[in-house]
Amino acid sequence: MHNRVLAMRETAKQDYQVVVVGAGWAGLGAAHHLSSQGYQVTLLEAGAYPGGLVAGWKTAEGRALEAGIHGFWYPYRNIFALVDHLGLKPFTDWTRSTQYSPAGIEAISPIFQNLPPLPMPLGTFAYPQFPRLPLSDRLTAFPLIQAVLDFDNSDEAWQKYDRISARELFRQYGVSERLYRDAFEPMLLVGLFAPGEQCSAAAALGMLYYFILAHQNDFDVVWCRGTVGEQIFRPWCDRIERMGGKILTQRRVTDIQLDETGCAKAVICGDEAFEADAVIFAVGITGLQNIVRGSTTLRQRAEFTDVMNLGAVDALATRIWLDRKVDIPNPSNACFGFHPTTGWTFFDLNALHDAYREEKGTVVEVDFYHANQYLAMDDTEILKMVQQDLATCIPAFGEARVLDYGIVRLPKAVTHFAPGSYRYLLPNSTSIPNLFLSGDWIVNRHGSWSQEKAYVTGLEAANQVIAQLSQGTTAAIIPVEADEPHVQIGRSLVRLAQSLAIR
Ligand SMILES: Cc1cc2nc3c(=O)[nH]c(=O)nc-3n(C[C@H](O)[C@H](O)[C@H](O)COP(=O)(O)OP(=O)(O)OC[C@H]3O[C@@H](n4cnc5c(N)ncnc54)[C@H](O)[C@@H]3O)c2cc1C
Repeated sequence: MHNRVLAMRETAKQDYQVVVVGAGWAGLGAAHHLSSQGYQVTLLEAGAYPGGLVAGWKTAEGRALEAGIHGFWYPYRNIFALVDHLGLKPFTDWTRSTQYSPAGIEAISPIFQNLPPLPMPLGTFAYPQFPRLPLSDRLTAFPLIQAVLDFDNSDEAWQKYDRISARELFRQYGVSERLYRDAFEPMLLVGLFAPGEQCSAAAALGMLYYFILAHQNDFDVVWCRGTVGEQIFRPWCDRIERMGGKILTQRRVTDIQLDETGCAKAVICGDEAFEADAVIFAVGITGLQNIVRGSTTLRQRAEFTDVMNLGAVDALATRIWLDRKVDIPNPSNACFGFHPTTGWTFFDLNALHDAYREEKGTVVEVDFYHANQYLAMDDTEILKMVQQDLATCIPAFGEARVLDYGIVRLPKAVTHFAPGSYRYLLPNSTSIPNLFLSGDWIVNRHGSWSQEKAYVTGLEAANQVIAQLSQGTTAAIIPVEADEPHVQIGRSLVRLAQSLAIR
């Protein structure tokens, strides 16, 4: 064990100082648990508000905006447990969703938990309505089960499947062009923020299994009844501060300082230095790349300079206030086929957000993923595109007048799980013994994705600090629900077949 860490243990120093960098789900998760264990936590956030990609704020006119609407899927067990622990009731009921293409409605998802349980993946295939997709195309998905069983989220599985793109994977397993275009690619665009040829097959298998395939209820989703910022982050930050944690916004970290033994001793933020016994980076890929670029310390280590090989995807979030009510059949809607490499979603905020329930006109959120080509457009062009796209799905949108709008451009915002990217993703421990990493892009074995993964990695990083400094109790992390028994048997059979083939 490292000298400085040993020395700290020997002196049995209490109330160690931990600096957490980045106040998204990961950073707040780490800061919350460590504050509850008596650590002196300072959370440094570059932005004006905590929340990271889920931050919400009010415009000068008092309109609430967010960096995209966020859903909370059935398997988000750790986030649901946190929200219960905080005594919050932020969520809507489970919602149904619709999928549109320019040709009309392509799929309507039920609330799966209300239907008789079937062994996976039968419920996922049988229960949604696909008014246009022929059964013969849907059946071509079945050979893919072999890859689903083979991909167990292990390091070996990631190495094997990360080499090819999701597009190649679906082709190799004989998925029909139509099923790919009308079902799988839309899921990749909204789940991994990129079209299939730009997504790692490993990430596609992991994401689809977690959100859709593992258990019938996994695709059920709830939304916050207002902004996540107001409903969850504000009370959560208050709780962290009441426990003694300091949350400092508009503090962009630029470097860390090491002591003579190679441990982090301070975090540098412009001309301020924050002393630390341990440091947790909870920044996204672009955030870490910016820190590495300017850091005399991290620039010298291959693990950090290799992060420059990773990428991130642009997103665009818009919210519009219309002068009349438009009837939107389901509150959440995913759309594909409108733009070659961009997926988009729209949400009926009158149905989801308490504040708009009595509003005279419609309030709709329209978010675009893999929106690279749209970030340069001006607001008028964006609004025109938004209204045209909405009107293609529901013609009444074309007759409504826009009273107000908010547009949030999110350059290089979300992790790009590109083919071949796995080798550059980092685990939570680093070559600096008391510097830990967290965030939705970190390599871990929990099996969750997106917000839930970010939160879990924050807890995992906090647990690493606790293991190192021996102060307090580690956070309990709820594992993902176990594979169904026939999936466990299927996985064993796939392994057996592979080992026989090798002999
Ligand atoms: C449009 C959109 C829609 C989405 N929809 C969903 C959804 O429906 N469901 C879902 O689960 N997930 C969704 N996601 C993904 C989800 O937002 C992320 O997985 C999650 O928020 C990542 O959290 P994080 O803590 O890892 O990182 P982030 O939220 O990116 O937080 C990192 C923080 O670090 C800060 N930071 C960066 N550099 C520095 C620095 N040098 N110094 C100090 N601070 C720094 C940043 O300002 C940021 O606040 C969506 C994302 C987008 C963009």
